Amino acid sequence: MADKLTLDIVTPYGHVFTDEVDEVVTTGSEGEFGVLPDHVPFLTTLKVGMLTYKKGSETGIFFINWGYAEVGPDKVTILADSAEKSEDIDVERAKAAMKRAEERLKQKENVDEARATASLERAIARMHVAEKK
Ligand code: ATP
Repeated sequence: MADKLTLDIVTPYGHVFTDEVDEVVTTGSEGEFGVLPDHVPFLTTLKVGMLTYKKGSETGIFFINWGYAEVGPDKVTILADSAEKSEDIDVERAKAAMKRAEERLKQKENVDEARATASLERAIARMHVAEKK
């Protein structure tokens, strides 16, 4: 029986995090889910949002930008488009990204609406996660 989970967070920009933790909570396409050691294996897609883990009395909070979670009895692997620990989020950069996306969405022509909407969603989620640190 596993009593710990190895949490790995990997993005195309590099390995963001690895540690042994007690619990992981994040947002899958079907909604928020929590994982404790010995969970049944499953694979799910992730939404833009937050991931938290608990390790003893310590809590860690990450922004997660889409991707996949692979859950096993003693392992949670997150493959995300990008991810940052809450304290590493540059709030000014997120605000600037939000402004840029809002300006683009105000334009009626020559705008990739889906791209601007996704950028806006990331920026808002980053600001939300940064507040939780
Ligand atoms: P921006 O328009 O500011 O680049 P973005 O949402 O397009 O934002 P991503 O494509 O998600 O950025 O990420 C590109 C890289 O920049 C990743 O390594 C990501 O972790 C990092 N990054 C993006 N925004 C921030 C931020 N506000 N704070 C810290 N790191 C960030």
